[in-house]
Amino acid sequence: MGLFSDMEKLGLGHLNGAEVIEKNGTNGFGASSNVELAARQLERKEEDYIFDKKYTCPVCDLGFTSKCVKAGKIKLSGHDTDLRPVYDFMDPLKYDVVTCSYCGYSSLVRYYGRLSSRQIKELKIKIGNNFKGLADVDGAYSYDDALIRHKLAVLCSVVKGAKNGERAYTCLKTAWIIRGKRLALDEESAEYKALMNDEMDCIKNAYDGFVIAISNEPFPIAGMDENTLKYIMADLARRLKKYEDSARLLASVLTSKAANHRLKDAALDLKELIKRDIATDRS
Ligand SMILES: [Zn+2]
Repeated sequence: MGLFSDMEKLGLGHLNGAEVIEKNGTNGFGASSNVELAARQLERKEEDYIFDKKYTCPVCDLGFTSKCVKAGKIKLSGHDTDLRPVYDFMDPLKYDVVTCSYCGYSSLVRYYGRLSSRQIKELKIKIGNNFKGLADVDGAYSYDDALIRHKLAVLCSVVKGAKNGERAYTCLKTAWIIRGKRLALDEESAEYKALMNDEMDCIKNAYDGFVIAISNEPFPIAGMDENTLKYIMADLARRLKKYEDSARLLASVLTSKAANHRLKDAALDLKELIKRDIATDRS
């Protein structure tokens, strides 16, 4: 079961097994009733923080709506070590992808709509012509609603031949959606373990893509300066158990005159975490 195996029901089975990151210049192609009640109550509340935004699709020219989070309404409570932002009460990351429900064109909001005529043609041929449509969601997105849209965004980034920085960042955001879903589950469940595998697939693609991007794309990459991206890559490398790569990236951040104290402190914390991970791996 690959990361994209569930794309078949959308008519995109031919893209199952797509290679996400472009390598060597090729354009490559995986409860209880109380809990349910609490989840429903949470969803109802989440609806108050989102709204339907109107778009005109640059690929099929049809009008559609996509859900957005109301600005300034939710509070940041912290970050994971790879800088995944965590908010009080809801996960706004679910709404970071815009999807045309008619032709399937999807992208992170940051990259939405910036398409050449060649890219529009490719998206029509490889996604739009096969896409079976996506039903509108009433109210808040579940993690599954968000995940299908993020996976579409990854596939569209491949089909349109996006730079590796965009592909990698879209994979990273997909990993964060998978993590959000995973963290609400029992660690011993089969679903948790399957999601962990999917998350690691996305993290691997994100890391590989960023490695190529920092060697041939100008900064900012995905809105990040060099030190912020290297810090994130160091944590992705740690998660992939590429400890030497992680240490090298952290050394670059720690010796950079441009890196601020907060990032350097986070890099020192990450260095300690790597030592603990290595010790755990050996035990
Ligand atoms: Zn469209």
